Amino acid sequence: MNIAVVGTGYVGLVTGVALSDIGHNVTCIDIDIEKVKKMKRGESPIYEPGLEDIMKKNIEKGRLDFTKCYEDGLKNAQVAYIAVGTPEKEDGTADLRFIEAVAESIGQHAEHDIVVVTKSTVPVGTNDYIREIIQQNLFENMKVDVVSNPEFLREGSAVHDAFHGDRIVIGADTQSAADTIEQVNLPFGIPIYKTDIRSAEMIKYASNAFLATKISFVNEISNLCDALGANIEDVTAGMGMDARIGNKFLNAGIGYGGSCFPKDTSALVQLADQAGEPFELLRSVIKTNDKQKRLLVEKAKERFGSLQGKTVALLGLAFKPNTDDMREAPSITIAQELVLAGANVVGYDPIATENAKNVLPGAVTYATTAKEACQNADFAMILTEWDEIQAIQLDEYKSWLNEPILFDGRNCHNPTKAKQNGIEYHSIGRPTTQ
Ligand code: NAD
Repeated sequence: MNIAVVGTGYVGLVTGVALSDIGHNVTCIDIDIEKVKKMKRGESPIYEPGLEDIMKKNIEKGRLDFTKCYEDGLKNAQVAYIAVGTPEKEDGTADLRFIEAVAESIGQHAEHDIVVVTKSTVPVGTNDYIREIIQQNLFENMKVDVVSNPEFLREGSAVHDAFHGDRIVIGADTQSAADTIEQVNLPFGIPIYKTDIRSAEMIKYASNAFLATKISFVNEISNLCDALGANIEDVTAGMGMDARIGNKFLNAGIGYGGSCFPKDTSALVQLADQAGEPFELLRSVIKTNDKQKRLLVEKAKERFGSLQGKTVALLGLAFKPNTDDMREAPSITIAQELVLAGANVVGYDPIATENAKNVLPGAVTYATTAKEACQNADFAMILTEWDEIQAIQLDEYKSWLNEPILFDGRNCHNPTKAKQNGIEYHSIGRPTTQ
C-alpha cells in the first residue's frame, strides 16, 4: 500500500520505518527541513537502538522516502498517518495545534479518497474534530475516513515494540476503514483489537494513566517501607507473585517522566473535569509523582544538613535508559533543586547530554564519562539505569568520589554489597547501609 506518515518524531519515524519494512511504500512528511535532509541521507534524527539500520535498508530498497512537501507525500497515498506531537498546555489540557495544522494540510493536498489514521495521543472526540477539519478543506467529491490507531511503543525499545507489540488497536466507525488498516498491519503478526473510535482514543489514555498509577502506588509503598523498615524489593517480589497483580512495572524509583505519562495523565484529569467526572485518583497519582521526583534531594539534605558548596555527580540524565529524550526527565527537577540548594552539579549521560543542555539549569556542567563526573564530587546520584551506569562497580565509586556516598534513585545495587565495599548507600524503599 502507498502510505504517508506525517511527523517524524519518536512515533512517526519508527512507524514509517516499520511500515516500509513490512513492504509498504512509505513517504514521511515533516515540516522540519533539516530533519528531512538528514533522514534522506539515512541518518536518524533521534537515538533509538536499531532504527537507523532498518531505515537505511528500506531507503535503499526504494520503499522509504522523506519530504517536507505535503503535495509530494500525499500524491499516491491511500492512507495517511498523523504522528505529530500533542504537548501539554499550561492548563493541563492537550495542545491540538499541530494536529489541526496537519488535518488542514491533508485536506488541502489529498488528491483522492483517503483513510487518515491518528497515531498521536489525542483526547476522546478528537478524531471527529480531525474529520471535520479535513472535510472542510477537501474537494467536494472526495471522501475521508478517520481511524484511531494509538501508539504504545516505549522509547528505548521502540523498534522492538513496533514489530512485537502486545496489541494494535484500531478504532473506526466504518467497516471498510477498519479493514483497510487491519490489512496494513497484518504482516506485523501482532494481535489486532478493533473497536469504535472513542473507545480506541480512551484505551490509550486509560493505559498510560493505569501505568502511571502503578508507578506512583509502588513509590508510595516504597516510602512507607523506608519509614517502617521494610524492603521494597522483597515487598514487590512478594506482591508480583500474585497473578492478579503481575510482576511487571513494580520498580520503585524517582518518579515517572518522559513525553507521555506526565502530559497524558494531566490531559485525562482535564478531560474528566470537563466531562463532570473528576478523576481524584489520577490527581493523587500526579501529586505523588511530583513529590517523588524531589525525594533523592530531600534524602541528601537530611544526610548533609546543607548542600551549599557540595559537588554532586548526576549519573544518567535521560528520563529512562536507551533514549536521548529529556522531556520531563526527573533529572530536571533534581538538578534544579540541587542548584537552588547551592550545590555544584556535574551531569553525565551516555547519549542525552546535548538535549540535557537545553533543559537543565545553566549552572550544571557536563562530564564525558561517569568517572570524570565523580572525580572531585562529594557524592553521586544515580538517576537513569543505563547498562553502562549499572555496570560501574561499587569499589570504583569508592576510588572516584571524595567520600564514598551514593544515592541510588534506581535501586541498581545491593545494599549489603555496598556496605561490604565501604560505601554509604542510600536507595529507594530499602535500608540505608554504611
Ligand atoms: P515528537 O515531538 O518527537 O515529533 C513530532 C514531529 O512532528 C516533529 O518531527 C515535528 O517537526 C513534526 N511536525 C510538527 N508539526 C508538523 C506539521 N504541521 N507537519 C508535519 N510535521 C510536523 O513527537 P513524538 O514523541 O513522536 O509523539 C507524537 C505523538 O505520539 C504524541 O501525541 C505522543 O503523545 C504520542 N506518543 C508518543 C510516544 C513516545 O514514546 N514518544 C509513545 C506513544 C504515543
